[in-house]
Amino acid sequence: MKTDRRKFIKSASVLGLVGAFTDLKANEVVAGFSGHISAAEDISYLQQPLPYAYTALEPSIDALTMEIHYTKHAAGYTKNLSDACVAEKVNTAVLPLTSLLASISSYSVKMRNNAGGHYNHEFFWKSLFAPKADNAPKEELSSALQTHFGSIENFKSQFEEAARNRFGSGWAWLVKTPDGKLKVCSTPNQDNPLMDVSECKGVPLLGLDVWEHAYYLKYQNRRPDYIKAWWALINWDVIEQRYKKA
Ligand code: MN
Repeated sequence: MKTDRRKFIKSASVLGLVGAFTDLKANEVVAGFSGHISAAEDISYLQQPLPYAYTALEPSIDALTMEIHYTKHAAGYTKNLSDACVAEKVNTAVLPLTSLLASISSYSVKMRNNAGGHYNHEFFWKSLFAPKADNAPKEELSSALQTHFGSIENFKSQFEEAARNRFGSGWAWLVKTPDGKLKVCSTPNQDNPLMDVSECKGVPLLGLDVWEHAYYLKYQNRRPDYIKAWWALINWDVIEQRYKKA
């Protein structure tokens, strides 16, 4: 049983035997891979340079918010993830971050919060670009959204509702589910749809950070205004590529 093996590996790590089992743990995860995880975008354990200037997303997201978000909040998740990987003997050279997320229930709460926080932010930065007034989904994804949601407008209103109604801190997502459907959902805190503990599972195509740190300097309590302004920033070429791979 996989669960028993995980318990065994956890016990082994407590006994300080974990070095010998690091590869076993990685192989175990690969053996249990579901297709939707292997189709997801893998992301480095290291924080990558922001692919644009802090000012690039103005006026939808202001430069000071971007700078603090990237250099303090997101960098903090990356640092804490790195510390957790050392403490919990994760061989980051062997185990893809997506595989770690897919077995996150085997790790600490610190690992869950920071592996999710790091992945989600790196994924988020790559999804965005300078605002465009007539920004819209493209090609195959555009057709698929119309098929699954009735119209692009319906998709957007469902997504906005998920983002508005996430109580407290979390993320709204567009995912491709393991059975091939497109679905809108949200996750609490820094959870994401790749985690085995998530109620919402699938390949993430698009995610929106609705933590107050993502918008409070400019929008204060007006989360719905932040959500509406964010649509202009989406780099739909990137989302299209994710969809084609998923
Ligand atoms: Mn954030």
